Amino acid sequence: MPKYNINTICVQGGYEPKNGEPRVVPIVQSTTFKYESSQQMGDLFDLKDSGYFYTRLANPTNDAVARKICQLEGGVAAILTSSGQAANFYAILNIASAGDHIIASSAIYGGTYNLLANTMKNMGIEATFVDPDISAEELESKFKPNTKLVFGETIANPSLKILDIEKFAETAHKNGVPLIVDNTFPTPIFCRPFEWGVDIVTHSTTKYMNGSANAVGGAVVDSGNFDWEKYSEKFPGLTTPDATYHGIVYTKSFGKGAYITKMTTNLMRDLGAIPSPQNSFYLGVGLETLHLRMERHYSNALTLAKHLQNHPKVSWVSFPGLENDSQYALAQKYLPNGTCGVISFGVVGGREAAVKFMDSLKLAAIVTHVADARTCVLHPASTTHRQMNDNELAAAGVSPDLIRMSVGIEDVRDLIADIDQALYR
Ligand SMILES: *Cc1c(COP(=O)(O)O)cnc(C)c1O
Repeated sequence: MPKYNINTICVQGGYEPKNGEPRVVPIVQSTTFKYESSQQMGDLFDLKDSGYFYTRLANPTNDAVARKICQLEGGVAAILTSSGQAANFYAILNIASAGDHIIASSAIYGGTYNLLANTMKNMGIEATFVDPDISAEELESKFKPNTKLVFGETIANPSLKILDIEKFAETAHKNGVPLIVDNTFPTPIFCRPFEWGVDIVTHSTTKYMNGSANAVGGAVVDSGNFDWEKYSEKFPGLTTPDATYHGIVYTKSFGKGAYITKMTTNLMRDLGAIPSPQNSFYLGVGLETLHLRMERHYSNALTLAKHLQNHPKVSWVSFPGLENDSQYALAQKYLPNGTCGVISFGVVGGREAAVKFMDSLKLAAIVTHVADARTCVLHPASTTHRQMNDNELAAAGVSPDLIRMSVGIEDVRDLIADIDQALYR
């Protein structure tokens, strides 16, 4: 396929129907696929031949949408998962196991923090959390012989801290491990992390990618750039025979597709967090307008952030698109065309005033969601981050009065009017 610009990939990427085939990616809502001989089926199981046989391992609808996301990120292989949580879990578990160590930015999504700090810890994978502003030297000192990867978020949810990707990528590579980045908030429209040295990208497609809040989902994309064989002793799962697959060596048999193939043959086979084809279809439809929506999300958010910045009832505003924002310089470097539609701010009067403000909104709804077409608000300290104590909240960049507003694609004049009436209640 010729190389198209990203806006064209949004609309047409991932699926090229042949003569007489459906113009739109079909929903192949079937668990299984029929074959004429057991030999044919056996070859598929042995990975000797490629073809569909069971939707947990591969499905044409899921594959078409995964290919589109792969092209959008500029990767070599991608897989869809049933949620963003599953995507991050798989991305890590694919190359780390009990006894291993990982390094993660402390400014990450609350669910991911719990996954790394608790569930994966209980599985024997230890995480060291670092401030994203850490110096390269200090970051260097956190590596151990059993460190297998570094993890961060391009734009952290909800603190809106921007990862200095080059600093993290260079330090990870110097220590022979890949950098995995969750690119949910900017989407590939505003940042393509592989261009800055990231090796693996994850997504909660539940957010902007789907865009309409009608299906939870996730994705993992591999750049194909990390040289697993060079650090073979760290990644034996990819570079030595897999006894559960007739002794296949993923890097030998699948080259740049090794990481995603292992994720399918091991993690999907054993854990099974696959999306339903119906949900992938919704995601595919959403992706067709991603480029248009992201532009509007960003311009609406910037207009609102500027309005709130000068508002007497607002104590502080954080939005990486504002020139006086602490993240502005990093945003200019990594996200010059826009960041995302999420802003955070504090209402004069603290926690109580924040709750009153939220309850007075008419257009912006209180929902545990961000990054869809409808404007919504959330108070992280009492919802998504409620498991954290004050120190952990501070480390994640969340203050008790923080309101996270996910600015939708409505007419911004109506949003401003709604916010103003609520602030003056
Ligand atoms: C929402 C979110 C997740 C979790 O995704 P789900 O689809 O809700 O499982 C992970 N990372 C980030 C940055 C998110 O915003």
